[in-house]
Amino acid sequence: MKAMVLKEICEIKTEGRAQQKKEVPVKTEPLEPENIPIPKPGPKDIVIKVSACGVCRTELDQIEGRILPPKLPIILGHQPVGTVSNLGEKVKKFKIGDKAGATWIFSSCRQCEFCCKEQDNLCDEFKATGCHADGGYAEYMRISEDFAHKIPDNLTDLIYVAPLMCSGVVGYRSLKLTQMEDGKNIGLYGFGSAHHLVIQMINYKFSNAKKFVFSRNVDERKLAVRLGADWVGDIEDTAPEKIDFAIDTTPVWKTMIFALGNLNKGGRLVINLIRKEEADKDYLLKLDYPKHLWLEKEIKTVANVSVKDGEEFLGVAAKMKIKPKVQLYELNEANKALTELKNGKSTGSKVLKIAD
Ligand SMILES: [Zn+2]
Ligand SMILES: [Zn+2]
Repeated sequence: MKAMVLKEICEIKTEGRAQQKKEVPVKTEPLEPENIPIPKPGPKDIVIKVSACGVCRTELDQIEGRILPPKLPIILGHQPVGTVSNLGEKVKKFKIGDKAGATWIFSSCRQCEFCCKEQDNLCDEFKATGCHADGGYAEYMRISEDFAHKIPDNLTDLIYVAPLMCSGVVGYRSLKLTQMEDGKNIGLYGFGSAHHLVIQMINYKFSNAKKFVFSRNVDERKLAVRLGADWVGDIEDTAPEKIDFAIDTTPVWKTMIFALGNLNKGGRLVINLIRKEEADKDYLLKLDYPKHLWLEKEIKTVANVSVKDGEEFLGVAAKMKIKPKVQLYELNEANKALTELKNGKSTGSKVLKIAD
């Protein structure tokens, strides 16, 4: 089968930005095409013939070494959806031909206190799809049925389902962690793949909430207005009203300071990101306790996703008719998609279309 493989950590070459690390090579083609055998299922595994796989900012973190894959080479991609093409003899949940997908959670121990409370996202043995195990930038991938998801019948076009598997599920988790209530104000910092789905979830669940979107990208702000934002501005702008909840998906630190400045008393900032980039870390020295933290403001991070998040969210997605804005690439254009993502080109979700 064809796959796009990461063989060494490198920096993706971008337009007009200085190289961040001297010790890694700069590449325009970080992933290499390879022909490798189709994976065989273990007793509890399914093999998915991948139709489409979403492209995520986390892949940039992996390629550039902010999240080190435990083994190289590795096939990236944690938003694969497709059709079950093979399965192990103990598989109960799936049959050949079922529509199936995977999220960032590839496996966990299923025994620890966190796994027993449906918080497998916090398991010490948490393994990630396309990081600890080969992912969906390939024609086929293997995963245990316990961690794979059935795609609801009415989500028929898999191109539009792929971005739901990370941007949608982790967006759903981040919104859940804000403990958002209807009628309150929420600030969305950054308006990429996740937040263009989160705003649709807010429209669906909290019709009286006000949504303030902060992005440095003019096209993202326009998309936010089209999707129902009540106000749009730059990351450094002051919101027209205090915000009760905020979600930050940007890779920079200054967002935290500005979001905390806009936050209402008792407000909560949720940071939906695995790693922040190092470049502007000094910005944290501007943190002013009375202005940014006092009066019971909270900061919470989102770590991974649980199997339950995936199940819950796919159920919600099937009901609410969520529609990602999708930009398609062929599998062998994965490098182009990743470079454009790093350069902040275009809005919505990038998807590799792998098979019909
Ligand atoms: Zn992701
Ligand atoms: Zn566990």
